[in-house]
Amino acid sequence: MNVQTPRLLQSYVCGEWRNGSKDGKELLNAATGEVVALIDASGLDHAAALEYGREMGGRALRDLTVHQRALMLKEIGLKLMEMKEDFYTESLWTGATRADGWVDIEGGIGTLLTLASKARRELPNAKVIPDGAVEPLSKDSTFSGQHILTPLQGVAVHINAFNFPIWGMLEKIAPTLIAGMPTIVKPASQTAYLTELMVRRIIDMGILPDGALQLVSGSAGDLLDHVTCQDVVTFTGSASTGRMLKTSPAIVENSVRFTMEADSLNASVLGPDAGPGTEEFDLFVREVLREMTTKAGQKCTAIRRAIVPADYVDAVIKALGDRLAKNVAGDPAVEGTRMGPLASLDQRDEVRDRIADLKGSSRIVLGDPDDVRVASGDAKKGAFINPVVLLADDPAQAAANDVEAFGPVVTLMPYADIDEAVALTHRGKGSLVASVFTDSKDVAEEMVIGMAPMHGRVLIGNRRSAKSSTGHGSPLAPLVHGGPGRAGGGEELGGMRAVKHYMQRTAVQGAPHLLSAVTDIWSEGADTRADKHPFRKSVAELQIGDQIVTEAREVTESDVEHFAHFTGDTFYAHMNSEAAQANPFFDDRVAHGYLIASFAAGLFVDPDPGPVLANYGVDNLRFLTPVYFGDTLQVRLTCKEINPRENAEHAEVRWDCRVTNQKDEVVAQYDVLTMVAKDWP
Ligand code: NDP
Repeated sequence: MNVQTPRLLQSYVCGEWRNGSKDGKELLNAATGEVVALIDASGLDHAAALEYGREMGGRALRDLTVHQRALMLKEIGLKLMEMKEDFYTESLWTGATRADGWVDIEGGIGTLLTLASKARRELPNAKVIPDGAVEPLSKDSTFSGQHILTPLQGVAVHINAFNFPIWGMLEKIAPTLIAGMPTIVKPASQTAYLTELMVRRIIDMGILPDGALQLVSGSAGDLLDHVTCQDVVTFTGSASTGRMLKTSPAIVENSVRFTMEADSLNASVLGPDAGPGTEEFDLFVREVLREMTTKAGQKCTAIRRAIVPADYVDAVIKALGDRLAKNVAGDPAVEGTRMGPLASLDQRDEVRDRIADLKGSSRIVLGDPDDVRVASGDAKKGAFINPVVLLADDPAQAAANDVEAFGPVVTLMPYADIDEAVALTHRGKGSLVASVFTDSKDVAEEMVIGMAPMHGRVLIGNRRSAKSSTGHGSPLAPLVHGGPGRAGGGEELGGMRAVKHYMQRTAVQGAPHLLSAVTDIWSEGADTRADKHPFRKSVAELQIGDQIVTEAREVTESDVEHFAHFTGDTFYAHMNSEAAQANPFFDDRVAHGYLIASFAAGLFVDPDPGPVLANYGVDNLRFLTPVYFGDTLQVRLTCKEINPRENAEHAEVRWDCRVTNQKDEVVAQYDVLTMVAKDWP
């Protein structure tokens, strides 16, 4: 891509790429100041774009199952990975080094792939997702309740920040599309060329249904004036813009779900046990430095406040100074550059202003924000700033508890004891992440429990996890990203929790056979069918409610003796009558639970080769009533749920297994998990 010919960015709305009605604002390469793109979204009909998403994208997505949607994303993710070098090229223009770009590009695609894979492992291959178990609401199983999740029928508008133009988009659109909701992405203008390039590539793949993904390149205009109660708006950026958008009339009047992720004054605490010379001390210093220099500190999760035992402050300053001396700042396109510029000259000026605010209550102990030293690039045209470390002598009153300098800036805060350290972390008024570096279980317990209510994620830094730890600043697809209070009060990621943010939870009450018709899951009281052994049925024939009630089988003392010596499980409750009677739960020797489960299998299986391919486990196994010698067992096995795997010849079939004794008491209850062929000759 030639940097000399700036690209005119387009928006993708209503099924086509469109130019704005004006010439476009220039977007500059952060390191060189060259114009790399022009952006303008004026004149777009946002109401039409929203309607197009709802009508075209939403309908098409809802026609697919969760697994079909997740598979589309997998295919997209794998293709994007093949084209990753194109994204790296433009990522340099944002000021990101190759390592910074990795977080954005491969971290973003990896997040999308992880969510696509988890969805196929953890959610049913269905259009309706059950939320929790069936709640029996009557004694005779004629009235039950079940929470279900269905995709919202609006559009998710994702307004993103400039610092992660790719990750920021993918971490939000992946759960949205898996949920079955269409999206409109509105990247921050400053780095929108990278988002636009990726959206273009995704659209060109032709995998997503029309209207599932739209893009606004430029100002959002009146987009949020047209949102309705089925739409969702997510926002990442400054707290002031976030607050303004959150209170905009259409959002308030229509109770539109609004997820905000804004300025966060994240803290990292050096444990009182982690003095100079310990591994945790070195890990802490390395992490503070890494958080300052990765993306030049332009990360929502970066450490802004480093909380340090008062006695170790000098040692921390010295260690940080030694390491910062080796930091190579400059043009990210030049090999060896460790830290690039900020995203724009405006951002650099903004960071300098915020450092001035911080200086009101703290003093600079390392670095000079006005003296820019770069090993490459143009120190005047590029948005460079050197790392700055401040020290707050009165940390509780420091401006660092209120002011976010969105760059390579950290404020050291001395503390006397753990209570004070915890209290200081709370002074950020709610953050995305906090960390504590310690090798003490007591410190870990006290700090984590103290910090948790004010933070969305807490990392414990320690020598044992040092090699495998993903670090303070990395949000991970399976873990929640978001935080209370000033961090916005929102929650993103967290595995399948993220998908559910784009679905409505509804409590459905009714007769079990009608609930089953809605969820495609059999529950107690729903219809059953006992025409032939269900293990003789392939998925083509099998239905939920297909059931077998077995013969009864007596459990004898010699069965228990045999099982005990055969397996080696000679636990006293099975072997020693006196000891068993002394046990508060038993009247005498009892059969092993696993013997009951084994006998149950012996009763319910159909032994001949057939469509049931394998048993891959049991869920929720409970032994509910003791089985004594002479009791008889009987099994009722009912097909509960059928999950056909896409692109495979089998389905995962869940069976409700209930084992009763001669008094009809439930002895054991569990789900048997099997794989069943889709067809069987
Ligand atoms: P903004 O809050 O100005 O912008 C964030 C997003 O909101 C951008 O996509 C922006 O679009 C959009 N936006 C702005 N105004 C409106 C509006 N009226 N309607 C709809 N969308 C709107 O943040 P910046 O990106 O300018 O960053 C400013 C500061 O925010 C940083 O210096 C930093 O302190 C903080 N920040 C915090 C982040 C975090 O995650 N904690 C991430 C990024 C920034 P456009 O760019 O087109 O104006």
